[in-house]
Amino acid sequence: VSETKTFEVTCIVCPTGCRAKVTVIDGDVKVEGVECPRGSEYAVKEITAPTRDFFTTLPIKGGNVPTCPVRSTQPVPKEMVINCAKEMAKITLEAPLKVGDIVMKNVLGLGIDIVATRDVDRETLRS
Ligand code: SF4
Repeated sequence: VSETKTFEVTCIVCPTGCRAKVTVIDGDVKVEGVECPRGSEYAVKEITAPTRDFFTTLPIKGGNVPTCPVRSTQPVPKEMVINCAKEMAKITLEAPLKVGDIVMKNVLGLGIDIVATRDVDRETLRS
């Protein structure tokens, strides 16, 4: 008896937002409705091991701005995004920081680092 499963996935790789129909028949995967190969790759990954780029903004002490945006160096497994946000909520950064500086190494043991995505200089004291 053959087993067929179908999934609907909206590709988020570009703003076109193609709606992919993924059909799995006895382990063979067919993707329809996408306009380019990146959509097929995304749709298959989304039904097997979904991931998300992780971004947030953290408070920074002693900086010329109060917050600094950060992101993951690689996409994070979708089910771990909330836990990453909880880990990030525990830390306060310290200025100065440069783009690419690691603010948390190997977050949650995933082998993924969190890095700053802007430069933050030290606050200059006004007299
Ligand atoms: S399938 Fe290609 S064209 Fe369609 S949304 Fe994804 S990346 Fe964009």
